[in-house]
Amino acid sequence: DSSKSSNFLRQIIEKDLAEDLYAKRRWGGSPGDAAHHAAGELDSAKIRLRFPPEPNGYLHIGHAKSICLNFGLARDYGGVCHLRFDDTNPEKEDTEYVDSIIDAVHWLGFDWAQAGNSQAYQASDYFDFMYRAAQYLISSGQAYVDEQSAEEMRQNRGDFSRPGIDSPYRNRTPEENLARFEEMRAGALADGAAVLRAKIDMASPNINLRDPAIYRIRRATHHNTGDKWCIYPMYTFAHPIEDALEQITHSICTLEFEDQRPFYDWLLDCLATGGLIASPHPRQYEFARLNLTYVLTSKRKLAQLVNEKRVSGWDDPRMPTIVGLRRRGYTPDALHLFAERIGVAKGDSWIDYSTLEGSLRDTLDPIVPRAMAVLEPLKLVLDNWDEVMGHGVLDDCSAPVHPHNPEQGKRHFDIGKEVWIERSDFEETPAKGFFRLFPGNKVRLKYAHVIECTGCEKNAEGEIIAVHANLVADTKSGTPGADSAKVKGVITWVNVSSALAAQVRLYERLFVQEHPEAGTDNFLDNLNPDSLRVVEGYVEPSLAGIAAGQRFQFERHGYFVTDLHDHGDEKIVFNRITSMKDSWVK
Ligand code: ATP
Ligand code: MG
Ligand code: MG
Repeated sequence: DSSKSSNFLRQIIEKDLAEDLYAKRRWGGSPGDAAHHAAGELDSAKIRLRFPPEPNGYLHIGHAKSICLNFGLARDYGGVCHLRFDDTNPEKEDTEYVDSIIDAVHWLGFDWAQAGNSQAYQASDYFDFMYRAAQYLISSGQAYVDEQSAEEMRQNRGDFSRPGIDSPYRNRTPEENLARFEEMRAGALADGAAVLRAKIDMASPNINLRDPAIYRIRRATHHNTGDKWCIYPMYTFAHPIEDALEQITHSICTLEFEDQRPFYDWLLDCLATGGLIASPHPRQYEFARLNLTYVLTSKRKLAQLVNEKRVSGWDDPRMPTIVGLRRRGYTPDALHLFAERIGVAKGDSWIDYSTLEGSLRDTLDPIVPRAMAVLEPLKLVLDNWDEVMGHGVLDDCSAPVHPHNPEQGKRHFDIGKEVWIERSDFEETPAKGFFRLFPGNKVRLKYAHVIECTGCEKNAEGEIIAVHANLVADTKSGTPGADSAKVKGVITWVNVSSALAAQVRLYERLFVQEHPEAGTDNFLDNLNPDSLRVVEGYVEPSLAGIAAGQRFQFERHGYFVTDLHDHGDEKIVFNRITSMKDSWVK
């Protein structure tokens, strides 16, 4: 797809496709378990990628990048992308998260049914195969059961400055190891009493190759396999096998897995030699994870915000979770554009938050309907209304639903003797350069008349409670005389007698620091105390009866969406998605 800018992953895929690398894939020995998950329909797809979340939390904007990347590459190159739950860690996982991940991927517009699966893949479905793969490694002398204590194992692993020390259990025979591994499985050993380790190289400069643990004993109920297992594969062992069984071609992950790649290849080379998986086996490629300024992307820290009630939940509109972004008013298109604009890099860097908001504005501006809203209302009384227009008369005004799309039609709203204006549009003693309402000045009420300000009313505390003005006759927008009255200021308004009351939630960035964890060991210190301000305002009457999740541009104010939870027939509730321009002051 030439409209997409190239990147190193596209180049790798294009080269592999040109060499027809994966069409030549051959199955080594007996397909076993692999066949029923994968074979059959598999060879028709040119490339096969996967998005492999661990179902231990809600997905965030970083995952959205990974979803758009993997599913996007599959789509662009005639391949498929699997959704796979990497559920090998029973303690932390839950079906609540499984469901929310499925929702998030669908919402972003992707589907895994293209791979012939009505369901997503689950790593836990491969536990039997993984057990057999471990037995194969043991019988070929490439794995052993180690019964050192965790502390001994850590000590003997060595570090960058010194090689590791062989475990006293390292030279057990395959027969001994097979028997002991079977005992681990049967529950004869306590949690933590032994691990199965790959037998590679205790002197390797890559610590990950110093006989990494591949199975551990853990008595925990798994959300899919229940109590069938008391031993679980380690992630580093499970992940390459999952990729191989699903015949993934390009296994794309974030940079922190770079040091794991040698083990990934070591393991899959062993299993291919043994005929347990097909060759060529999948290859791992790393890209830089998304770091977004003013945003935290760590499930653990996001969970802390939720648990400590710093936000209202995972879907709080300030959260960078997909459910939060969605409730905030982000669209799938905005996130796709964002993912496309940031591209993929091989080195870590920070993406500016304004890139995300820019993608949002650029996707919303061409389509969303316009409306007038007054967020901080001040009453404006047109004292000569009855003389000029007639007592009790309401005058009809109209405006395009979208200024550049006439086919979206017109919206109608009326004006009468009293209108709501923004408090900030009136100054009793104007500052230099203030062109809006002040005594003696003329402005246009947008889509309506020119008015001339005569003064204001105050309460006993000296607060301004109303502004007074007179209509200038024959100046209504769209009428022949409209342009004769030259004014510098145009202000938005809604009619007091017909406007709809609305609660508007004004959201700002959740953190005040570009790097939320900078300059403190407690990121909570960097929370923005003003990240939510709730105002009671008014919106134009054409918005009566709108559903939840509807987006509008409120003229001069920005983009707003009716809240997915709290908006309803009894109460109009809007979230600010973003302002018109980037107005953040550092
Ligand atoms: P977290 O660090 O937030 O807990 P994780 O990496 O542990 O996230 P997984 O469920 O394992 O979460 O992630 C699934 C996929 O999403 C992985 O392939 C991972 O590479 C990718 N991913 C996670 N965070 C980011 C990020 N910030 N940018 C890009 N991709 C990410
Ligand atoms: Mg992970
Ligand atoms: Mg993580």
